[in-house]
Amino acid sequence: MKFISTRGQSPAVSASEAIMAGLAPDGGLYVPESFPVWNGGDFDAASILSPFFKGDVLESHLSSICNQAFNFKIPLKNNGDFSVLELFHGPTAAFKDVGARFLSECQSHLVKNHQTVMVATSGDTGGAVAAAFYGKPNTDVIILFPKGMVSDRQKKQLTCWGGNVKAYSVRGTFDDCQRMVKEAFADPRWNSETSLTSANSINVGRLLPQMTYYARVAAEHFQNTGRKCNFIIPSGNLGNAVAALWAKRMGLPIDQIVMSTNSNQAIGDYLKTGTRNTHKTIATLANAMDVGNPSNLERAIHLIPVIDEFRKIASSISVTDDEITATISKWATKGEIWCPHTATAVFAWEQINRSSSSKESSDWVVAATAHPAKFETIVEPLIGKKIDVPDSLNSILSKESIYQEINANLSDLI
Ligand SMILES: *Cc1c(COP(=O)(O)O)cnc(C)c1O
Repeated sequence: MKFISTRGQSPAVSASEAIMAGLAPDGGLYVPESFPVWNGGDFDAASILSPFFKGDVLESHLSSICNQAFNFKIPLKNNGDFSVLELFHGPTAAFKDVGARFLSECQSHLVKNHQTVMVATSGDTGGAVAAAFYGKPNTDVIILFPKGMVSDRQKKQLTCWGGNVKAYSVRGTFDDCQRMVKEAFADPRWNSETSLTSANSINVGRLLPQMTYYARVAAEHFQNTGRKCNFIIPSGNLGNAVAALWAKRMGLPIDQIVMSTNSNQAIGDYLKTGTRNTHKTIATLANAMDVGNPSNLERAIHLIPVIDEFRKIASSISVTDDEITATISKWATKGEIWCPHTATAVFAWEQINRSSSSKESSDWVVAATAHPAKFETIVEPLIGKKIDVPDSLNSILSKESIYQEINANLSDLI
């Protein structure tokens, strides 16, 4: 299996080459050159992923990579109205642990001499990457976050590691942090001593593993009921939604894919107009989805170039901050506590359910992308009580913070 660039101007590469490169040389994103057809057989993670690693140096390691990466549960629970796929039981209590852990396991087999993983983060990504790469041999991690702009719990997840993970509080914005990462990639001094790699969701090694939970849920639901299920996915940079589209393309029994967004509605705008317009990023309560121009839209369009075909299988619902808070408050009275991101998907389900009530509750699956305890400053005042903190998150919160404060110049890092 080869991987090609969405822009079609780069040579096809193997899975491991795509995983080490991140971005393709033509500026496009790597995608599988074709999609294997699922034949109704096994649907464990390694079986779903093995065709993508056929002939690759990682092929023989795939099942041990999956065992190491997916070492936490991803339960599906039905609450009588819909099913909830809880993706937040990893070390940093958000779904990004799945992709970050798989990527780090792959890269630890591939790194030759030494690698430096550099990430700019506005909150969630940096924590998942730090947790996944902490203690990996021949690997350093550099995390840049904007001073004063991440929540206390997010900051703890970025700064509690020490060892091979260095965190920097940058006197600047998230955009300054991203600029510094780009400058480092372009700077020969950085690339001569170590090979720099990126770990954000442009890397195909983060998207492929996300297909596995959609595959498992859809296959099991079909076995039990003979029906296809629908997914509602809280979306920002569209990495999680593209993984669901890929699983559907493989022939897994998936019907509709609904992308719920906050007020950043690039995907909704694309589905409406059929053209890709640029959007300013709007700050919202669901901050991990504050993405003006989602990079993975390029992968979605490459998969389904004809807009009318796209509209047949996917839709998008945009949810305002007021609707997010109202949804969290309302469901708390029924004993369900949602994080602000998951609340967008629950709101979307309510909209859909109002117009078509014929489907069974188990046909609708809401992807719960983060534990509400991660966003306690938003959620606790709305529900009027403290949220129990999961053990994995608690052990991080009890550690000491270690970081350096620097100006927004790459030279301050060296
Ligand atoms: C990153 C994130 C999202 C958005 O996922 P994308 O793959 O970028 O669309 C949603 N919810 C949470 C909690 C996240 O951390």
